[in-house]
Amino acid sequence: MAAGSRPRLVLATRSRHKLRELEELLRLERGVLLTLDDLGIPGEAVEDGPTFEANARIKARFAVEATGLPSLADDSGLEVDALDGGPGVRTRRYAGPDATDGENNAKLLAALSGLPPERRGARYVCVLALALPDERGPRGGQPMLLRRGTCRGRIATRPQGTGGFGYDPIFEPEGEAPGGRTLGLYSPAEKHAISHRARAARRMVRELRAHGF
Ligand code: IMP
Repeated sequence: MAAGSRPRLVLATRSRHKLRELEELLRLERGVLLTLDDLGIPGEAVEDGPTFEANARIKARFAVEATGLPSLADDSGLEVDALDGGPGVRTRRYAGPDATDGENNAKLLAALSGLPPERRGARYVCVLALALPDERGPRGGQPMLLRRGTCRGRIATRPQGTGGFGYDPIFEPEGEAPGGRTLGLYSPAEKHAISHRARAARRMVRELRAHGF
C-alpha cells in the first residue's frame, strides 16, 4: 500500500520508552504510526483520573481532539501488595512531581526494606485506550476501546540491570527466584514475551486490525 493511503494512528505519549516499546509491539499490517511530536502537537493532558482506565481515556481524548486522527494512549504503573496497590496511578510521580526513575526506585526499596520475598509481591498494569475521531459531530462521540494487560512479579532488594525503564531494574517477574533476574536484565524480546504492555498490545492489535490498521 502506498504510504499516502495508509491509515494513520497517533501514539498519544511523550515517553520515548513507551513509544519505542509500542512501536515494537504493535507492528501494524496496514497503518502507519505517528507521534504527537511528528504532528507538531504541543502540550499534555492532565492525568488526574482515579484509575489507569480513566487516565488512558484522558490521554487518548486529548490526542484525538488535537489531531483529528485515531489515537492510542498508554497508562501504566505498578501495584505493590504491601502498599495496598500503591503507587498505582501515582507510579510515575511516586517520589515527587519530577522524580527520576532512580529516586522512585530508591523510595520503593526503602518502603519495603526488611520485608521477605513473599511480602514483596507486585504487578505491573498497562491500559491502552483507542479513541476514534468523532464521525457524528461533537456530541455523539464513538465509544473508546480499552484493553488491559498485567505482569505479576516481586520487588527485588536491590537494582540490577539497565534495560527497559522505570521500575524494571527492581522488578523480578514471576518465574524468577528471589534475587533472580530483574526486567532490567531482560532483552527487549524477553520483556515483550511477558510484559503488561505486550499483553495489552496483543489484545488491542486485534481491534486495530478490525479497524483497518
Ligand atoms: P504514566 O502512564 O505516564 O502515568 O507513567 C507510568 C509509569 O509507570 C512510568 O513512568 C514508569 O515509572 C512506570 N512503568 C510503566 N510501565 C513500565 C514498564 O514497562 N517498566 C518500568 N516501569 C514502568
